[in-house]
Amino acid sequence: MTKVYLRKKIAQRIANGHPWIYGNEVERIDGTVDGGEVVEVYYGDGKFAGKGYINPKSQILVRLLTRKQELINDLFFHNRILQAWQYRQKIGYTENCRLVFGEADQLPALIIDKFNDYFVIQTLSLGMDKWKTAIVQSLQTIFSPKGIYERNDVPVRELEGLAQQKGFLTDPFDTNIIIHENGLQFYVDIENGQKTGYFLDQQDNRRAIQHIVKDAEVLGVFTYTGTFEIHAAKYGAASVLGLDISGQAVALANKNAALNGLENICRFEAVNAFDVLKQWGKDGRQYDVVMLDPPAFTKSRENIQKALTGYKEINLRGMKLIRNGGFLVTSSCTNLVTPDQFFQTIEMAAKDARKKIRQVTFQQQASDHPIIWGMENTNYLKFLIIEVTDR
Ligand code: SAH
Repeated sequence: MTKVYLRKKIAQRIANGHPWIYGNEVERIDGTVDGGEVVEVYYGDGKFAGKGYINPKSQILVRLLTRKQELINDLFFHNRILQAWQYRQKIGYTENCRLVFGEADQLPALIIDKFNDYFVIQTLSLGMDKWKTAIVQSLQTIFSPKGIYERNDVPVRELEGLAQQKGFLTDPFDTNIIIHENGLQFYVDIENGQKTGYFLDQQDNRRAIQHIVKDAEVLGVFTYTGTFEIHAAKYGAASVLGLDISGQAVALANKNAALNGLENICRFEAVNAFDVLKQWGKDGRQYDVVMLDPPAFTKSRENIQKALTGYKEINLRGMKLIRNGGFLVTSSCTNLVTPDQFFQTIEMAAKDARKKIRQVTFQQQASDHPIIWGMENTNYLKFLIIEVTDR
């Protein structure tokens, strides 16, 4: 097996458990370098560091799968997936969950979402993609699912030299499924929805709005298929308006409201939030609760400042629409924006909007997306509720 030797002075990161090895951290390689193949990695002093897969096309040369001298075969992947499921069950998941959250489950670049009997998978690196058949087989063995679907239509695959693709990994099935969450039902479009079709990471946060939306006029921005908004309606909101730029998302949001018998309370519009919020501020529109859940504003470090400006802008606009004593529910899923940076941005927005704020709650992603300290890409979702009063 090919052996990769690390430089003497590598980032403490690797020794501390981070699984990524960059090209410039490698001293020499003994053996052939075949993209996607498993290699052994050694520290500069010759000590065994682990096994992982290599891809010379990627900035991340090796991603470690294990720190032990063990065989990397179908059984290895089966056991890892089984462990991921056992962990989810232990912390209370039964129907829907992110079954595998990549690095946080020691399966770098693998995402598996479980929507009850259906599974959506993403293999986002060459080395993981090679094990797709084994991964599908172990899902079959563990769950006997009704269907497995591949959503590999994501640009990051191209950084690995992989094509974007999607399709069935089992016999075809109806990809419009219904899932249950917090006593509500939602259509999920596995084939054409965003990412894997549904944002499981906000499942606990959707419950966190329960008390503040009672009898309120609610505006939900970046609504996607209406999940937060339909929760608000269920929790007793007087009226809910949800906005999203995607007509397809709005169509599904309307269907979801009807599915739960809440179509008289929820209304959805396909508009660009940035334009509309600005105009409505000028018009003096007011709501008791404004909810913001924008998409990630950047994936690259160079654009962090721009992303922060975007967050400030949207939160400022949102705050201006809130009645004295109302609430802002605001999220950020950009992993490069730290919780502290997010808080500072909200604080600046409040200052410019001439509002006083008080934190009600701060949460992160649901616990089926475990955070590994020191692995910053696993710590990504910020979810904040603040009370907003006039200065
Ligand atoms: N709140 C949703 C997830 C939102 S994802 C949930 O919990 O399921 C972000 C959404 O923002 C996407 O649906 C995307 O279509 C939408 N979006 C992106 N840019 C937008 C814009 N400028 N105006 C309105 N919506 C936008």
